[in-house]
This record gives sequence, structure tokens and C-alpha cells, in this order.
Amino acid sequence: MADSLRSIPRTDDLLNDPGFAVPVASLGRERVKAAIRQAQRLARDGAITPADVRATALANLPLAGPCRVINATGVLLHTNLGRAPLSARAIEAVAVAAGVTDLELDLATGRRGRRGRTALAALAAAVPAAQDVHVVNNNAAALVLAATALARGREIVVSRGELVEIGNGFRLPDLLASTGARLREVGTTNRTHPRDYAEAMGPQTGLVLKVHPSNYVIEGFVSAPTVADLAEICRQAEVPLVADVGSGLLHPEPRLPHEPDATSWLKAGADVVTASGDKLLGGPQCGLVLGRVDLVELLRGHPLARALRADKLTLAALEATLSAEETPVQAALQADPAVLLERAWQLAAKLTAVGVPAQAVSTTAAVGGGGAPGVDLPSAAVAVPETLAVPLRMGRPAVLGRLERARYLLDLRAVVPTEDKDLFAAVVTACK
Ligand SMILES: *Cc1c(COP(=O)(O)O)cnc(C)c1O
Repeated sequence: MADSLRSIPRTDDLLNDPGFAVPVASLGRERVKAAIRQAQRLARDGAITPADVRATALANLPLAGPCRVINATGVLLHTNLGRAPLSARAIEAVAVAAGVTDLELDLATGRRGRRGRTALAALAAAVPAAQDVHVVNNNAAALVLAATALARGREIVVSRGELVEIGNGFRLPDLLASTGARLREVGTTNRTHPRDYAEAMGPQTGLVLKVHPSNYVIEGFVSAPTVADLAEICRQAEVPLVADVGSGLLHPEPRLPHEPDATSWLKAGADVVTASGDKLLGGPQCGLVLGRVDLVELLRGHPLARALRADKLTLAALEATLSAEETPVQAALQADPAVLLERAWQLAAKLTAVGVPAQAVSTTAAVGGGGAPGVDLPSAAVAVPETLAVPLRMGRPAVLGRLERARYLLDLRAVVPTEDKDLFAAVVTACK
């Protein structure tokens, strides 16, 4: 027994073992040490033999993240996959911003400048309908800031048909209530009328909230006032209308005719529009605050704004996104189904040629990520055996597809064409 304990490999020896060099470089010594200690404990407890300590420690090393994933799910904006991938320009901008930059300095004058002013200028230029703009951490932060600055200790009038759960158990009503504002729910799940709002409003009203139900649709006997209807009621009562457009479309998108956009809602009379940066806008995670100059100033100057402010990497990525020709999300949205099918054929032919059973099929993709619910995007996929799902997910890069009738579909709509060769290599590796 004592001999056996003595033969357990020592921590330092393993750390210096060439087999641990790569993990030490990517994870750091401490995390590798923890895996080694765990394996040594198992050996001391007799659960494994001393000879197995090295292999057990290697097998139990945590994965260093983030791990690159090829999104072959057919869902353009996948929250679990980090929503919008950035454009090449935005990625470059992030790399520059990661160093020392002129974030709060005006290089022309040498004086302090407004934080991220070039990003804010790009946003203002992209949405001329907004008198002023501000950027926070995400759309949830934008809503919290608006609720706190405009309705803390007062009421937010909102339709029962717009009390959205945005995902992972987060509910907009809870988020708003956490600011100390009281929700004044009006109407019913399916129908809310302009008079419901008018009747609920009074001196206690801090703001009226319009929320785009971005991840579901209610069909049938439904009715909700338009932004213009609400704007008229709010104007008469001198109460701000805050409108959460969700997806971050700045202008109408012909391919998504039912998806609201910031410009249209501002033109219809919304005082403040909030939106996410990493949904259909195709940029980094952030929250856009667009609208009336006095209100945006009020939000920007609120003490809470400091806790919600966007970081320099985000601001850089947002600016580059706004000036990019086409974001990956736009490209995926615009992709021609015939071209996608052609790519699927080519990929299937290459795979078949090396002995992997593969077939090109027509599919239906979706926007996902809380945008354009119910919209079907015609797409194409390579169908491979279902048994490849796990090895593909465990591969590097990881590949995620979707299971459909005992086939694993690798949908190409959200796969950048330049990734096709990586996808081919990943499937071949997964077969081994
Ligand atoms: C996605 C979404 C949110 C939350 O936005 P985040 O940027 O994830 O904080 C809020 N409201 C609506 C309508 C949404 O679609």
C-alpha cells in the first residue's frame, strides 16, 4: 500500500511533463494543478491505480474557453452560441480597442472627450430619426435605466399581452419591478385598446411602455394599439412613451416585414426606443437608447448609467458594425436558397467521395434569438448520420447541427461560405 502511494506521480513532475505543456499554456498552472491533485486523490483512495493518474488528470482537464463553434443549426441568432457573430471589420476594431485607445480623449484638441463619441456619432448617423443616442450593456440594461430614471416609485403602464419572458427565466416585468417602479398592467393577453392605456394613466404614471413580443406571436382575435396611437395618448398626458423594439433593426427590413424597427417607431412618435445590439443589428452585445434629446440626456446622466455603461471593446465593435457593408447576420438573412443548396450539394459530394454518407436536402431555417418569430427562411443542409452529432459537438471547432427524423442536418444558412472547408474537415474528423 505504502509502495503504491509512493508511486503516485508527483505534481511537479506532471506539470513539467511535455503532455501537460499545452494545457498549462492555455489554462494556466493552477487549473492544471487542480486536475492533477484530483487524480492523485483518486489514486490515494484506490479508485484508480497510480499508473492511471497521468491519463486521468489529462482527461479531467477543464476546457479552455471560448471554443469556436460552426453554427449549422439553421438558427441565425442562437443565444446559446453568443447571438450575432461580428463582421471582420468589427473583429479588427475590437483588436485595436483592446490596446490603449482614444476612448475618452479628443486627439484633435488633446482634451477629454465624451466616452465612445465616435461610436455614438456612428449610431446617431445610422438613425437620423433619433435626436440623441446612448449605449449601455444590453437591452435589459436600457430598460432598467429608463424605468429607474423615469418611473422609480411611480407606475409603468404596459399591456398584459407584452409581458415577455426574454429567455433563461428572465422576465421583463420582474426586471422592471426590480427598479422600484410599479407595473400597471392594462388590457388582456390577446387584446389591449388605446382607452385601456388612457384610463390607467394619471399623475402616478412614470412612463408608458410598448414592448415588441419578439419571441412569440399571438394570432386570432388580437388587437393592440399602434405606436402612433400610444404616442398620441402619451403626448396629451405628457408622459414619455418608451418602446422596446427588441431585435435592433434600425430600419425596415424587407425580408422581415412584421419585424418593427427603431426608425419607424421613432417616426411614429416613440420618445425613447431601446434595442439589442447583438440580434438583427449583427453587432456586439449592447443596448441602444435612441430618442428625444432631453430624455436621453436624463438617462445618460443618471447615476445608474455608470454601472450599465458599455465597455470600449463593445463601443468599437458597434461603430464598426454600423459602418460595415454587410454583417454576417445580414448575409445569412439575405442568402439565396439556391446558392445554399448548391453549397450543400458540393459539400455532400465531397463527403460522399471520402466515404461519409451525406446528402444535400432543402430545409427551413429561422432567425431565432428573440427575433422574427414564425418567419421561415428557406435553406439547405447536408444530412449526415445521427451518430455524428456528439463527435461533431466535441470536435474543435465544434459543429452544432440539428436532429431531424434520425438525420443530423448541417444547415448552411448561418454558416459563412468560407467555413465550408472547415465544416467538411470537421465531419471527416468526426467519422474517425
Ligand atoms: C432580446 C430582448 C430583450 C433583451 O435584450 P438583451 O439585449 O438580451 O438584454 C428585451 N426585450 C425584447 C423585446 C427583446 O427581444
